[in-house]
Amino acid sequence: MQSKYYYLMLLFVLFSGCQALKTNADPYRSEANIPVREHSVQAVLWQQHSGEYKALCHQAFNLAKFQLDEILLRNNREGKPLAIITDIDETLINNSPYNAKMIETDEEYSKEGWIKWGLLEQATAVPGALEFLKYAESKGVQVFYISNRYAVQDKETKANLEKLGFPFIDEQHFLLREKTSGKEERRQAVSKENKVIMLLGDNLSDFAEVFDDKSTNERNEIVENLKDKFGTEFIVLPNPMYGDWETDGLYEGSYNWTPAQKDSIRKAKLISY
Ligand SMILES: [Mg+2]
Repeated sequence: MQSKYYYLMLLFVLFSGCQALKTNADPYRSEANIPVREHSVQAVLWQQHSGEYKALCHQAFNLAKFQLDEILLRNNREGKPLAIITDIDETLINNSPYNAKMIETDEEYSKEGWIKWGLLEQATAVPGALEFLKYAESKGVQVFYISNRYAVQDKETKANLEKLGFPFIDEQHFLLREKTSGKEERRQAVSKENKVIMLLGDNLSDFAEVFDDKSTNERNEIVENLKDKFGTEFIVLPNPMYGDWETDGLYEGSYNWTPAQKDSIRKAKLISY
């Protein structure tokens, strides 16, 4: 009887040890087998169907117009020409069909899939974007497009924007990703010849280098420190589907997580009570 108890205890200790080892070795380990983009269903639906998404976009561009008018009132137009720097995806055009397609086909983001979607030139304008940039053009303010679309996407990206009626679609005003996804070098290049008065984006790295490659806590802290710039110099558009908040934030800059690990990370980072 005693030896039976002993062996049971031994088994228990061994089992607990294995569990602890497993947990220590990989805190995010999960065997869950779920569709890889299932978690983004609600975000894509919100962007495609909610009036609130459209209202937030209009709010952003109404504010941008208000600020532009204020800047033009104060500016005597001496010195460098005035310019606005803008991101493209989820700032000016809506790529939610690509995100819906990933859910439909149960595929993660891929460069090939993204390029394939871009070639269709079917992205629609974000509410208020076209009107605002045309207004800026009418006031003699240039628009520079700084996007992390790949350089090979140059032709179809310009064609998509041109079809929608966006201004300044030419070589000089278009700076896609050549070497790095960091946008500071390209912002500096624009600033050399122009006075940048406003930046538009859906991702914090669209505004300043200080946001590049930062953790969730750092990103949130910097936003607090720069809070006066939002709605004045930095105009932010809503994007619940993807961004550095997810890749650098939630997934801590690693692109090697398995879908099951990502699922565990998302669940582990929910703030409940
Ligand atoms: Mg974007």
